[in-house]
Amino acid sequence: MNNNVINVAIDGPAGAGKSSVAKAVAAKLGFIYVDTGALYRAIGVNALRNGVKTNDRSAVAGTLSDVKVELAFVSGVQKVLLNGEDVSVEIRTPEASMAASDVSAVPEVRDFLFDLQRNIAKENNCLMDGRDIGTVVLPDARVKIFLTASPEIRAGRRYKELIEKGSQVEFKDVLEDLIKRDYNDSHREIAPLKPAEDGIIIDTSELDFEGSVNVIINAIKEKM
Ligand code: C5P
Repeated sequence: MNNNVINVAIDGPAGAGKSSVAKAVAAKLGFIYVDTGALYRAIGVNALRNGVKTNDRSAVAGTLSDVKVELAFVSGVQKVLLNGEDVSVEIRTPEASMAASDVSAVPEVRDFLFDLQRNIAKENNCLMDGRDIGTVVLPDARVKIFLTASPEIRAGRRYKELIEKGSQVEFKDVLEDLIKRDYNDSHREIAPLKPAEDGIIIDTSELDFEGSVNVIINAIKEKM
């Protein structure tokens, strides 16, 4: 392990602003930004493609012997590769979100993705975003942040993103999916979504993008 490496863990529920805000924070710090949700999404998409029920734990575990998931960083932008194919766009659909939430409750899936995440963090100054980064993947991270916001605010942000991408979605469905995913993520037996004991909780409900970036940068600077 390279002891000079600095890792920042950012956990929190869907739509708390982790990806957009954390990306900007990482760029300001000169760290790579690692979105671990993309890994669970790739496993979910693989299950969907193979007609496997994503809530069938043993069937999902069975898909792992045949799958390769990799992260590549192209000019600092993360790409996720599923058996060598770039699936960075396909993993962003609402179906992929729900599939990711299902497969993420499978212990074999979490084990399967663990080393990949740890190895990136060992070698790079990084800001890693997920649900269990501060609690399980990088318990020794220099700074641990738990980013949250009210479900309505988070669903509103997600809805806007999806509409901008041209998806035809209803706000109420986005909110319903998000509440369901929150429930799944925080009630699963293994690595549930929760703040680390030594984590800093930041609520972005009342903050705009710049405000959120600044609060996080200040929290990180204080800890470093
Ligand atoms: O962050 P994102 O919304 O892309 O994550 C998709 C799903 O992957 C989450 O709902 C969660 O179930 C799962 N996930 C996880 N652990 C992580 C990152 C994501 O369980 N570290």
